[in-house]
Amino acid sequence: MAKQAIQFSKKKRTQYRFQKLKMCKKCNRYSVLKDENCPSCGTSFVGIESLVKSIFKNRLFTEITWILIIISIGIIAAPTVRSLYFSLITGFLFVICYVILTSIFMKSEYFTQLKKLLRVDLKKIAAGIQFDSDLAKKDVKEERLAPAYEKLREIGDFIYNDQMKIRRVMALNEIVLRSDMELELEPLVPSSYDKDFVKYALEVVKINRSLMMKKGITYFIKHREAIIRDFGMESLISVAGTTLRMKLYIQEFAPFIEEFLDYFPKERILRLCSILQTNPDVDWGSLEDKTRRLVTMKYHYDPDFKRFAYDEGAVSHV
Ligand SMILES: [Zn+2]
Repeated sequence: MAKQAIQFSKKKRTQYRFQKLKMCKKCNRYSVLKDENCPSCGTSFVGIESLVKSIFKNRLFTEITWILIIISIGIIAAPTVRSLYFSLITGFLFVICYVILTSIFMKSEYFTQLKKLLRVDLKKIAAGIQFDSDLAKKDVKEERLAPAYEKLREIGDFIYNDQMKIRRVMALNEIVLRSDMELELEPLVPSSYDKDFVKYALEVVKINRSLMMKKGITYFIKHREAIIRDFGMESLISVAGTTLRMKLYIQEFAPFIEEFLDYFPKERILRLCSILQTNPDVDWGSLEDKTRRLVTMKYHYDPDFKRFAYDEGAVSHV
């Protein structure tokens, strides 16, 4: 199958993950997808926050009804006018106290209600996500890769296992990746070696090397032998090159960088020299000496390296 050139829609961002949960009241089923209407019956989904609010409102309504009933009984059963007034005043004060206390604890009551709903409906939520996942599977089968990936991306916010990560990666490997897509790498790093993931990661590095961060680099170092076997040495060199973006990465992955130093293109070495020079107080270990040696040997006559003042004298002690 040839790779598909497609456009993803923007990912829905919410402050908390639970805010993506919604429910079809007719099918009594949860979903985490972006659709506004239930794909089974067409009814509009109700967001979890609206669900909690309506449960909260119903509870308030029941409580207020009970308070009014008790006050009414007090008034009806009052033997004298004096006790009738007494019932009215205490009832009135009670209602005011109730309103004040409810408004003070409204927010915490809302979250208590939300936690309760999530706990009680946990199995139902899991079943809903499974249904969403089956819809994504159907999209992949019918080669509708954009909606399939968008579904998997939303589900991926709730399910972090390797199987879900690899399903997303496999869909991405069938798509022509572009820099304007909202690509992710770190959240897709699996716990063990996976060829599909490495293939995707190498493609991402070509498009946007800033997506290769600590977790991704560590993964490449950990599975280096399998990666060299399946993708060749060049793949590790390109990942080692991404570590030169930041001073912190250079410090953390210095032995990895040293190993591939001789293979880096000139612009990467220039970048490394520039970081080493602007941070003279940092202990770079043997990386600094090795870089000096390389520059002296390979770029001795290159004017671009003149500003680093690496001469033969500088490496004579190495
Ligand atoms: Zn429905």
